[in-house]
Amino acid sequence: MRLLIVEDESSISNFLKEGFEEEGFAVDTADNGKKGLTLAMDNLEEYDVILLDWMLPGMSGIEICRNIRQENKQIPIIFLTAKDTVDDAVFGLETGANDYIRKPFSFEELLARVRVLMRSHTSESTVFQSQNIEMNLDKHTVTKFGKSVELTQKEFALLEYLLRNKGKVCRRTRIIEKVWDIHFDYNNSVIDVYINALRKKLDDPSQPSLIQTIRGVGYKIESEE
Ligand code: CA
Repeated sequence: MRLLIVEDESSISNFLKEGFEEEGFAVDTADNGKKGLTLAMDNLEEYDVILLDWMLPGMSGIEICRNIRQENKQIPIIFLTAKDTVDDAVFGLETGANDYIRKPFSFEELLARVRVLMRSHTSESTVFQSQNIEMNLDKHTVTKFGKSVELTQKEFALLEYLLRNKGKVCRRTRIIEKVWDIHFDYNNSVIDVYINALRKKLDDPSQPSLIQTIRGVGYKIESEE
């Protein structure tokens, strides 16, 4: 899952980037309004959530939000705002944002709201199962036969993306767009390295691999139904 943070205070931006990356998100950041709008518009299909600061140099969060909404009505947008009057909050929602959170906020609270929005946006749960593997996004855990499996951030993100799209073929280019951020230097073999690592940790030698290779296209986790 990929997220855009538009925030000019680097301490907040870095803190959020680190936190979301630990949760397995790919994170892009912009420290001014114009850069934020450009990144958002160039990658609207790739972002799952956009976090917008209210007061930004160059262009306000509200202007960015209005521009995004002209192109895309669906993408979840959350305002990060220091403004705390009810009127401002109402205004934030009337610009087309889905939610707002007042500074200072806890990372856990923001993460919970992001998850809620992603759930209502995609109407998917936060627990995924396939074969003997269970992934719980709220607890940030993966288990195999009920036993905990340790995954790196990117392994976790890749497995989440494949499980969210269970039953569908996930194209390599799409995986890159959703799991890696904008600074990722596209290298074809990287996905295979991570897929192999996941297979080593998750597969049962007596069973077919959880993750199927679709030659020349990408990967797929079979849906059991
Ligand atoms: Ca600001």
